[in-house]
Amino acid sequence: MRQKIVVGNWKMHHHLEETQSFIWDFFKACPTLHPQVEVVIAPAYPFLCTASQMCQKSPLHIAAQNMHQADQGAYTGEVSAAMLRSIGVQKVILGHSERREYFLESDELLAQKVIQALKCGLEIIFCVGETFTQREEAQHFDTIRLQLEKTLFSRPLQELRSIVIAYEPIWAIGTGQTTTPDQAQEMHAYIRQIFSEKYGKATASKIRILCGGSVKPSNARELFSQKDIDGGLIGGASLKVADFLEIIQSC
Ligand code: PEP
Repeated sequence: MRQKIVVGNWKMHHHLEETQSFIWDFFKACPTLHPQVEVVIAPAYPFLCTASQMCQKSPLHIAAQNMHQADQGAYTGEVSAAMLRSIGVQKVILGHSERREYFLESDELLAQKVIQALKCGLEIIFCVGETFTQREEAQHFDTIRLQLEKTLFSRPLQELRSIVIAYEPIWAIGTGQTTTPDQAQEMHAYIRQIFSEKYGKATASKIRILCGGSVKPSNARELFSQKDIDGGLIGGASLKVADFLEIIQSC
């Protein structure tokens, strides 16, 4: 039985006070979390330390939205995996389509980030997804396979045990359009099959695969009830405690 996981990707939203009050309100509304669901929030960089301190010894986990691939060095404006670990951050989102598109993160670069994150003990939430055109041209399965092969599949099995995959069709992110539960289930099953071919059935059956792209309280339950969907990576709907909790309760 795979534990469900819901991750809130706050992107460039929520200042310090909003970050703090979200966490306080979340604890007030939900002092304990069902052990069936792992809950993660990914605040903006300047507030990770505060969020991490506030969530110590709580079931709310903290993820960074990005990290640099080097140990340290002259990389103005960048943050290393070891720095994240030093403030109690346990997880990092890599491969988000906004990083790929606006910051030109290639699969080759992401492969380096994966190595570095694993070396430093960060758990990775790794995003894959196709464009609308790729889906229209029936290229979506090959696109996802290539994204996985070029980034994760050079790693040995023992390193990838804790990895979480987030399938986020780019055309669904922030657009209000979502995959139908059937479309999402079809792709999640395909991703599990690729993992099975590479690492064996037992490993594939343990990998958690999240769905993302305009997941909200009104569609979460149906999506999460699909056989191969293990929770969600949530953008816009993770910014309000009430919506986020409703999504968590849909697991
Ligand atoms: C995301 O950015 O990971 C995301 C899924 O965003 P949204 O839920 O707003 O579509």
